Amino acid sequence: MRRTLVLNAGFEPLATVSLRRAVVLVMQGKAEIEQAHPGLRVRATTVEMPVPLVIRLRRYVKVPFRQRASWSRRGVLVRDRYRCAYCGRRATTVDHVVPRSHGGGDTWLNTVAACREDNNRKADRTPAQAGMRLLNQPFEPTPADALLLAVTGGRELPVTPRWPALGRGA
Ligand SMILES: [Zn+2]
Repeated sequence: MRRTLVLNAGFEPLATVSLRRAVVLVMQGKAEIEQAHPGLRVRATTVEMPVPLVIRLRRYVKVPFRQRASWSRRGVLVRDRYRCAYCGRRATTVDHVVPRSHGGGDTWLNTVAACREDNNRKADRTPAQAGMRLLNQPFEPTPADALLLAVTGGRELPVTPRWPALGRGA
């Protein structure tokens, strides 16, 4: 998979992200293309652009560059794309898989995005006790996810481009 280098507004290299994520950042106006592949273009549903090899963020972001992203509620929602881990509908809350009252902590592996209904229904129980099943297992975000979180401020990403056909530019 092709990776794109992300530079901070001051041109310091920050990370590499997938081509798909680079395209989303450019579409959102969060970054501009500094260097593109000569000749290859990306087509999504409504846009076409050169394949970005290097993009630069328009605004300077302070990224605490650790190997591990620090946990936050907002981060859990972003990681799970605002989808409820129990029913797949839109999530606005964060559920502790093992409830805090049972010793479950604020960690990436113990928290999932959940819709308010499911969060209330599950209440102070584990999924097994509540007879509910996780659609996906929680996971620790990669440094690239942490970067995206810093860049987007945790707002929901707009429609992801349908994954692009790569073609030779005209
Ligand atoms: Zn739900």
